[in-house]
Order: sequence, then C-alpha cells, then structure tokens
Amino acid sequence: MKQLDNNGTDPAGANLMPGVTHTVSYADVVVTAEDLKRLKAEQNAAPLQAKYGRYKAWLHYANLDRWQRQGYHFHYSGGMNSEECTCGLEITQAAGDADGIAAELISGDVAQLLDGVELDEVQRMKGHRTLPGFKALSVALIVGFEWHEDLRKYLWNAICQQCGGYEIGATNVVAKRFVRTHNKSCSSTLSQGTIEAFNQSLVEDQESDGE
Ligand SMILES: [Zn+2]
Ligand SMILES: [Zn+2]
Repeated sequence: MKQLDNNGTDPAGANLMPGVTHTVSYADVVVTAEDLKRLKAEQNAAPLQAKYGRYKAWLHYANLDRWQRQGYHFHYSGGMNSEECTCGLEITQAAGDADGIAAELISGDVAQLLDGVELDEVQRMKGHRTLPGFKALSVALIVGFEWHEDLRKYLWNAICQQCGGYEIGATNVVAKRFVRTHNKSCSSTLSQGTIEAFNQSLVEDQESDGE
C-alpha cells in the first residue's frame, strides 16, 4: 500500500502534485529456472520453523515468472517511494530537483479513452518492456485478469498506451495478439531519456548473461 504524502493528499493524485517528480529506471527481474530450483531446494532444506518463509520467497518468484510468461504488467513490488512492474520498469518518487530520468505518464487523451479500464499507477506510466524477454519497449500491455468460473478460465484485459485502444475479457492468446498488433502499428513517442534508460537495461542484461 502506498503511503499518503505529508500533505495527506490522495496518492492517486500524486503525479499531478507540483514539486513531486517520478523518475524511471529498470530493475533486474529475470527469473531463471535455476533460481526457482535453488529457492525450492532452500525451502526443502530449511528447518521446519523457517519453511513457510522460504516457501513465500519461492512463491514470490514463481508468481513473477508466471506473470511474465502471461505478459501481465502490474505493480507487484517496490518500496515506500518506488513501484516496480513485472517487466522491471521502476518508477521512483523523488523531490522536484532530484537527478534521474523523468518518468512519462500516458497522455490525457489516452487516459480519457482508457477511462473504463482499471489501471494502477505503474500501468499509467510509459517505458514498459516486452514480456517475456525484456528485449524491446512495449506500448501495449496486459493489465488485468478475472477468473470466469463458468468457462473455467482466466480472461484478460489489455490496453495500448499509445492509441488508447483496449480489449476486455480476452483469452491470454488473444490479449497477447492485441499487444503484438499494437506494438507494430502504434509507434511509441517516448522521450530520449526513457529510450536511453531502456538501452542501458539491455547492456546490463548482456553483461549479466556473460557472467
Ligand atoms: Zn511493465
Ligand atoms: Zn495502439
């Protein structure tokens, strides 16, 4: 849960507050099969009173891995002043004069078009990376799901941050197709700063691949 700021303002309005800025960066959120195996082994080896904690650690990464495969972006982690998406996009709230690359919010026009779709703060920010893989910037995102008991299926919601298009209650395959289509047809208008931050995240990935 996000804290209220010291003025007691509704956190949903935080972006619009004068003097508060958000910066963008990317966290390493790659989950490997080895990571999951190691966490499971640690859980199995842990003494009884520590098993539940180890299980929660494994579950956190197992869920993250599944969401990434499903292409689902949302605020799943972070601290008091930062929010992290499943794709690693990290939005940090800082004082107005702080260093860093300014985070970009979707435009007012697009926000209006997406008015009926429930979005968290990180889903309103631009600069997400494609899931899974993290190799490109993505203007379209899967942003929510609902379990449908009658169909015994999860159905998904997807949005385009560029044109304001959306798809509600689609199968994961159809939602992913929506994302691919919009990433092709709706070219992004990101700032140079966001593009540089993204390129830097590619370099870091390559460096850690080489270890
Ligand atoms: Zn994301
Ligand atoms: Zn679009």
